[in-house]
Amino acid sequence: MTVRVRLLTCGWLEGSLSMLMVGGEGRVRLPIPSVLVEHPKGTAVFDTGLHASLAHDTSRLRTSADLFDVFMGPDDALGPQLRALDVDPAAVDFVINSHLHFDHCGGNEALANATLLVQDPEWKAGHIDKLIERDVYNPNDFDLGQPVQLLQGEHDVFGDGSVRCVPTYGHTAGHQSLVVRTDNAEYVFCGDTCYFKETLENNALPGFGYDLAAQARTLDWLREMQGAGAQLVFGHDPNQWPTLGPELP
Ligand SMILES: [Zn+2]
Repeated sequence: MTVRVRLLTCGWLEGSLSMLMVGGEGRVRLPIPSVLVEHPKGTAVFDTGLHASLAHDTSRLRTSADLFDVFMGPDDALGPQLRALDVDPAAVDFVINSHLHFDHCGGNEALANATLLVQDPEWKAGHIDKLIERDVYNPNDFDLGQPVQLLQGEHDVFGDGSVRCVPTYGHTAGHQSLVVRTDNAEYVFCGDTCYFKETLENNALPGFGYDLAAQARTLDWLREMQGAGAQLVFGHDPNQWPTLGPELP
């Protein structure tokens, strides 16, 4: 069993750090990650970045456009990024979304034949108007007619324990992280349950969230994983992300 993990940057967003971390000052430019996981039994993409149209028109973001400036070129969208690696987007088997905010599922449409793996409460939240704050959820990003497998908690994607969806509810109603074991290491792709290294070190959660107490408990789990030897990959860390390189060992 050999699992290959490659990292893609599907654009950047710039916004106020105070929105993303209590006590933060100034503005921060956030990488928008996507993770390509190639397993002998299939291919999965964890989070799909910004919608391709945002490279030339941010109207799709509606009110969220007030919060962020978008930095994205046409080649930054998921489809072109995969093709640049000689990976056919139509051949991807699974699209796994940490959650359904616009910067995590904008590229789902590129994966026409993939089965969507998402936590059940997240799928419901994405469709309930009263939970759609500031237009962070847009069903046109994720409810695209692909087969949807609604997860109730932990899920072993390929049946051998090497790629696991782990619920980390809190940032949103049904947020999940991804744990991937390669031949050499174990990685936790935190998603937005932990934006930055500083989030974990200082328990510095954002000012907003679906359930901040639950999110704080996910930080305890991340510290446990780290203590057991896993490497954490933070959700939007502008300092860590560029150091990771295009492929993880
Ligand atoms: Zn995000």
